[in-house]
Amino acid sequence: VIRVEHLQKNFGNNKVLKDINAQVNEGQVICLIGPSGAGKSTFLRCLNLLDQPSSGKVIFEDKELTALSEDQLDQLRERMGMVFQQFNLFPHMNIIENIKLAPMKVKGMSDSDAKTKGMELLDQVGLADKAEAFPTNLSGGQQQRVAIARALAMDPEVMLFDEPTSALDPEMVGEVLKVMQDLAQKGMTMVVVTHEMGFAKNVADEVWFMADGYIQEKAAPQQFFAQPQTPRAQDFLAKVL
Ligand code: ATP
Ligand code: MG
Repeated sequence: VIRVEHLQKNFGNNKVLKDINAQVNEGQVICLIGPSGAGKSTFLRCLNLLDQPSSGKVIFEDKELTALSEDQLDQLRERMGMVFQQFNLFPHMNIIENIKLAPMKVKGMSDSDAKTKGMELLDQVGLADKAEAFPTNLSGGQQQRVAIARALAMDPEVMLFDEPTSALDPEMVGEVLKVMQDLAQKGMTMVVVTHEMGFAKNVADEVWFMADGYIQEKAAPQQFFAQPQTPRAQDFLAKVL
């Protein structure tokens, strides 16, 4: 679904991504882990060209994103859902309005179709009873589940998550991870930047360990957590496990 070839990203003299080569296959769940400042968020933002790569290629559904115009890009970006640490719901709209907005505005879906779809998705994330509530009346975990439903409303091909549980109180982390795990089980292709090692162990098909501008290791989680190959990964795991 996504392929990255010789991706590099510099911010001025700061070479954040040095030579990234990677592929995400349909239905795969990738967990991207690594120390703070490793470039994980930058990598994710390069996948949908929210950040323009300095060089290299990003290929999504056989189209080279790095060679497309802004208009063509917008269409493909719709096919990648993104969920951030901050939920970014529109505070002046209730939950169902938040979810209906993009399908109606971008895809031209009718109000009633968007509502039907939105209610199905709210049901899927366990929040059907909150459709008329406003974001401020929801807990952080509930807001993040709405943010996931909102991204799903566009029928994305891939879901990109950047530390979706890092801003949550500990007791709310589980409910969001559960929704993500359900999504993985339904076959969604996912790239998840996370510090939740339990999630990576249980849900990922592959763990990618990023440090110093490179993906240092790509391995099945059992393999990675039991026998990290590089000193960099061994050191990282010793600190986080
Ligand atoms: P964390 O785990 O803390 O989220 P990360 O692995 O996501 O870290 P990035 O946010 O991708 O790391 O940052 C990698 C490097 O790129 C850092 O040195 C950061 O300062 C730099 N950087 C990121 N975004 C920008 C930007 N817009 N302008 C300049 N430098 C940036
Ligand atoms: Mg980050």
